[in-house]
Amino acid sequence: MQKHYTGLIERYRDRLPVSKATRIISLCEGNTPLIQLQNIPRMIGKDVEIYVKFEGLNPTGSFKDRGMTMAVTKAVESGSQAIICASTGNTSASAAAYAARAGIKAFVLIPEGKIALGKLAQTLMYNATIIQINGNFDQGMELVKEVANHAPVSIVNSINPFRLEGQKTAAFEIVDELGFAPDYHCLPVGNAGNISAYWKGYKEYATDRVCGNRPVMCGYQAAGAAPFVAGHKIDYPETVATAIRIGNPQSWDLAIEAQQESGGWFDKFADQQILAAQKMLSQFEGIFCEPASATSLAGALNDIGTGKIPEGSKIVCTLTGNGIKDPEIAMQQCAEAKPVTIEADLDAVKRAILDCL
Ligand SMILES: *Cc1c(COP(=O)(O)O)cnc(C)c1O
Repeated sequence: MQKHYTGLIERYRDRLPVSKATRIISLCEGNTPLIQLQNIPRMIGKDVEIYVKFEGLNPTGSFKDRGMTMAVTKAVESGSQAIICASTGNTSASAAAYAARAGIKAFVLIPEGKIALGKLAQTLMYNATIIQINGNFDQGMELVKEVANHAPVSIVNSINPFRLEGQKTAAFEIVDELGFAPDYHCLPVGNAGNISAYWKGYKEYATDRVCGNRPVMCGYQAAGAAPFVAGHKIDYPETVATAIRIGNPQSWDLAIEAQQESGGWFDKFADQQILAAQKMLSQFEGIFCEPASATSLAGALNDIGTGKIPEGSKIVCTLTGNGIKDPEIAMQQCAEAKPVTIEADLDAVKRAILDCL
């Protein structure tokens, strides 16, 4: 009988910084589906294979769980009783969940009014202490770095190197499943930890000859929050994709390295394009991701359209988080599709159906 899946640290133990004695804090994260798109490639009339790595199916609904299982495991191993992070929402939900699992305390700093409803609800339910600030993520991040020097708390943002160690396993899973690395890997870029972690994972596998190739890394940002495209920090980042509403990415150098070493690029897309990609995925493939996540597909479709990503390519887009986290945006996206209300009788229901066919 096969041993049941107990999380990414157990699966990739020999490639992660844990010992036999380490108590693993896990919620069985990772092992997310790699789904090949069927309808969208046909609709755009291009001969490409597009796969989406649906990270929204992690325990708290985002890829942050990959990093958090490692970061919290190591925090507990070092004797920490409390963790802290700044967050646009998903890091706080994930930190709160893993702290609950470990039996330690979580503090999260979030920008007031700028995190999606589902993420706030999760963080409350997991019983973290939420500190809302009148400021954005970047300001929260600076405060967290400061306060960690003055209070006994471990930072679990992606400046914590264990976060990237955990997150690199997503690249391993893709190669293990496909048998090769894709030609292009597209993902949304906010604080830039994830693009750095994927590149680390792909490089490690290529170096150890688990696969013979490495992908070109394509990092996509929201137009109002695109420091990598601008080439400098942005003071007042704005986008509907709150998970990537970041102007001062902490993993700047690592992300530039990933782009340069892989021969990749950064680009930016308007909120409207991001939302259109989110709706397209739901409508035509049955895959509901959050707005920030859809930036990867918006970028891929754009670059396939222009030929920058040529036909014949195999492309993986990371869908970083679950669409259910942001019900307000989803309802706005579907404002015209308001449900009809009718009498509770057979004729009325029949008419409602026939009217739609
Ligand atoms: C955190 C997050 C991102 C950005 O990832 P970085 O590692 O900060 O670049 C993108 N999408 C979602 C849904 C996220 O939660």
